[in-house]
Amino acid sequence: HDSLQERDSEVATLLNGELKRQQDGIELIASENMTSFAVMEAQGSVLTNKYAEGRPGRRYYGGCVEVDKVENLAIERVKKLFGAEYANVQPHSGANANQAAFMALGKPGDTILGMSLAAGGHLTHGAAPNYSGKWFNAVQYGVRGEDGVLDYEEMEKLAREHKPRIIVAGGSAYPREIDFARFRRIADEVGASLMVDMAHYAGLVAAGLYPNPVPYADITTSTTHKTLQGPRGGIILTNDPELFKKINSAVFPGLQGGPLMHVIAGKAVAFGDALKDEFKTYQQRVLNNARALADELSKRGFDIITEGTDSHIVLVDLRPKKVTGKFAEALMERAGITANKNAVPFDPEKPFVTSGVRLGSPAATARGFGEAEFREIARMIDEVLTAGEEDTATIERVRNDVLALCHRFPIYDRASA
Ligand code: PLP
Repeated sequence: HDSLQERDSEVATLLNGELKRQQDGIELIASENMTSFAVMEAQGSVLTNKYAEGRPGRRYYGGCVEVDKVENLAIERVKKLFGAEYANVQPHSGANANQAAFMALGKPGDTILGMSLAAGGHLTHGAAPNYSGKWFNAVQYGVRGEDGVLDYEEMEKLAREHKPRIIVAGGSAYPREIDFARFRRIADEVGASLMVDMAHYAGLVAAGLYPNPVPYADITTSTTHKTLQGPRGGIILTNDPELFKKINSAVFPGLQGGPLMHVIAGKAVAFGDALKDEFKTYQQRVLNNARALADELSKRGFDIITEGTDSHIVLVDLRPKKVTGKFAEALMERAGITANKNAVPFDPEKPFVTSGVRLGSPAATARGFGEAEFREIARMIDEVLTAGEEDTATIERVRNDVLALCHRFPIYDRASA
């Protein structure tokens, strides 16, 4: 008599509603994915009850025999996955992981150099409303106006001028490969530490399809729930034993209390999966599908930032179609396609409106879509955006196409919340 349905039908109904939304819609939010039942089972386990402040073998609580083994498994697997000497798997999220990395590498008042939010960086890389922009003197580099590619020359110029304590590489809406060796060289030249946030690309990195920053960065951070397909959470990697001690004390007691042991169990499962050959095949499909989507949208007159992608991210400039990001996001959602509005480089629109949408292939690839389905998605997006919000017949027709496609590739079909 303790099922969620029996105990709290109100919450159960909402969860079932979300399950149906995920089953019946096409998920194109680039930072999302569909994790496995195994990961969700680990997360929904009795490990949620356990306090385990400290590190495996050095806890501030008793009863940690089993959770110690779980955390060690997660650590060993993630080290193998990314070729890192040391790993902390406790950060509750990507933002927490970045905060801990900053705490290990510097102190409030230091100068940091990161990619601007407007150009595709993350809030935690020095954006004004974030602690990283408030506690540090944040200097920001961007992308080139002519082709949307990271402006390495600007970044190097700013590094020489401002002599930052920390240089941050990585982004949330940047579709191309990042030259981590070049970042390393400038960091060495100006005496900065290099922190790489590979949150978006981690799954591709694990599969060998995107450059691995670990050999170049002093600290590499990541989330575990994007391309990596695990539970929501963060990780921190390094090859430097002294830095590793600082990272550990930044995570706990610096920033967090008890680690989420149920999530760490989910991370162990996801890292185990990511070490398998099937994961490489999945990531190759993620990449191929993103490229097919970009290609088809471009053929249909959309402007693709950087004219393609080296990752799961497709950043679309909607201006040739005379619609804003806000409008496109709302209209696509009416047709059952979920994405987020996103600024394009040098966007004249406000951040809440924008001229673009960011699309991503991980979630829809996880349910089995291939290149043909992704080209279909491009067709559907084009049709609804061309039709406009008044054309309910077209929106309804595309909504039915979305449903038919989703039903051909069922997801979580043995689940009920
Ligand atoms: N770093 C990057 C590059 C991200 O894109 C994100 C999330 O979108 C984060 C960090 C933050 O992760 P979280 O939402 O888990 O705090």
